[in-house]
Amino acid sequence: MAPNNLTSNRAVKMLNAAAQGNYGVLGVVSYNLETIVACIRAAEAKHSPLQILLFPWALKYSPLFVDFAAHAARSAKVPITVHMDHAQDPEIIKQASQILAVDGTPAFDSIMVDMSHYEKEENLRRTKELVALCHERGIATEAEPGRIEGGEDGVKDTAELEGMMTTAEEVDDFVATGIDFLAPAFGNVHGEYHGVENIRLDYDRLASIHKKAQGRVQIVLHGTNEFPADIMRRCIDRGVTRINVNKLVLSEYNDYVAQNTGKVPLTQLMEKGTDLIQQACERWMDNIGSSGKA
Ligand SMILES: [Zn+2]
Repeated sequence: MAPNNLTSNRAVKMLNAAAQGNYGVLGVVSYNLETIVACIRAAEAKHSPLQILLFPWALKYSPLFVDFAAHAARSAKVPITVHMDHAQDPEIIKQASQILAVDGTPAFDSIMVDMSHYEKEENLRRTKELVALCHERGIATEAEPGRIEGGEDGVKDTAELEGMMTTAEEVDDFVATGIDFLAPAFGNVHGEYHGVENIRLDYDRLASIHKKAQGRVQIVLHGTNEFPADIMRRCIDRGVTRINVNKLVLSEYNDYVAQNTGKVPLTQLMEKGTDLIQQACERWMDNIGSSGKA
């Protein structure tokens, strides 16, 4: 059975290839121009696919930022897609799905329809509706069964909700909504683990979710701050394809900016900052096996 009917969607093709090749693809949380420039440079230098991750915040900040990401992805020498992560408002999803890149294709190759702040039935009902809306436009979709604890910048913190891990049984319910990518909760959290020793993942659960998915959806990983390479590998070996990264590629940049703002010219801050993000992305591309895969 084909994973879905979006076989020409670039994000779907990218993650299907990752699943087949047993490697991960970086999904880089991008809040500024430096990050996007670094993503493109790293992907081209390593001949690696990559996904640029924007939050609904990007649209609120400026639609120009979305245009920039879409243009950058299309003009890259390697496959790069633009994904909207954690879209929790149906209006934002509708709005995002209508944005076109200069070549007339949807600016977002994929959108995460995150209705995880609703109870399960409502979550499924709303997800199905919004997936159909995105699919009509050729945009792939992602959902989060269970709840991945914590919040990300500009995203609702779900910590007040009772944490729920994804069950293998839920996989069928979510596949039935038509989603293309599934972000399971198996001990991963958004935000900080406060030490590698506190990362407690239920690998058996991840493996059973992957088995149940039977390739109908690809598994994506959220909440990787502080993950070492060996944990990442264990996740890839149990079916994970896209790996969302935030602090893993941005922390050195964040530190550099914190220490040097106002002390060096802005141009230097941007150039050196971009280099730091690029280097971190390249290291992780080697770690997760996407180098040379584009
Ligand atoms: Zn996330």
